[in-house]
Amino acid sequence: MAQLFIHPMKLSEFRKDECGLPDSRALDIYEALKAQGVDVDPTLNPGDHKIPPADSTDLTVYGILLQSSQLLEEGYRLGFTDIDRPTLWEFEGGMTPLCWRCDEFRQVSEIDFVLSLLSKGANLFQSLSQMGTKPQSKTTAVHLLNARLAELLSQDDDYHYKELSQFIEDNQSRFWQFLGNHLFSLSHRDSCSCACSAGGCTPLSVSIRLRMDWWDPDEQFFHLSCKMKHFLEFLIDWNQSRPQVSREIIRSLTFDGLGLRHSCCTEIKGGEPFWCTRDESELHDIMDEQKGLIEQLDQLVSEFEAQFDALQLPLMEFLRDIWYHGMMKFHSECDAFDEEHHIEAGRLGISLEVDDGPIPLIVQLLGPGLQELDTTDEEEEEEE
Ligand SMILES: [Zn+2]
Ligand SMILES: [Zn+2]
Ligand SMILES: [Zn+2]
Repeated sequence: MAQLFIHPMKLSEFRKDECGLPDSRALDIYEALKAQGVDVDPTLNPGDHKIPPADSTDLTVYGILLQSSQLLEEGYRLGFTDIDRPTLWEFEGGMTPLCWRCDEFRQVSEIDFVLSLLSKGANLFQSLSQMGTKPQSKTTAVHLLNARLAELLSQDDDYHYKELSQFIEDNQSRFWQFLGNHLFSLSHRDSCSCACSAGGCTPLSVSIRLRMDWWDPDEQFFHLSCKMKHFLEFLIDWNQSRPQVSREIIRSLTFDGLGLRHSCCTEIKGGEPFWCTRDESELHDIMDEQKGLIEQLDQLVSEFEAQFDALQLPLMEFLRDIWYHGMMKFHSECDAFDEEHHIEAGRLGISLEVDDGPIPLIVQLLGPGLQELDTTDEEEEEEE
């Protein structure tokens, strides 16, 4: 529209200051068009939207289109196409709009806009390094979204689960066409090499990892335990109890149950913004330090998998009746000759003392006898 109505000289003057994005001088262009009496759709008026930065001359048409589904639709009607261009806004650090939306995701209703972006062809699997945002990062929008959703679901007992299922019910076909299969699933693996998920992080493994990051220290043990079990039940139902998913859940839980430290997608951390990346040398140190324990992890996981396949129990029962005891046995046996992983577990800062050493919290939470366990643990909590 600007090319049609504004003199080329004047337009190139506007464009001179553009910082890589077309139409970063959108307000000037809009006003020039209005001054010529051109009937511009008012939804394209950059000055009309109260969005940061406050100085609306810095706004881009691009930025404005990304404020709502309606504006995006309107932009597409007018010929906009470039959905995956990393933004230049300093705060979002050059992520694609989809990735930024996924990182900033805080409410179930925001899935609606994610679906709009996806329906326009935004790439859910582009990594931050491909965007040029973070050279080392394997994190993708799909991982960020799963991480944030897991955080959201961990914040209360039921409300967000209900909200999510209501949203899906109301948006069935869009949801499953563009996104559903990439939530809490094994649909996509990145190139991380962390033993919590063999072959790379999946939406499922990222969601479990972030769920584990999210403990409210003031919450009672009994309540924490219920919520963790609720989350796992949700993951199992979501994946229709598929055995492969169950095996991957067992691996993730065992990894955390040994108190191991992750080297995967470290820029996604519970409650923290994405740019808290650990550096590569620290990641190598983590992997080096844990070599012995990773062998034990693989050994344990293959034993659990064999038992799981043989017993054919529902996963929650398996975790309570088999996995929990296996983990407790491992910890009590290894205490005799190997204190190292206990120190490692202690470093995580998420373990409670039980008997003669810290057992990672996740193991305790999935134990069988809340009635047997919760009294002792609540006493311990009170003592602290
Ligand atoms: Zn990991
Ligand atoms: Zn990863
Ligand atoms: Zn131990």
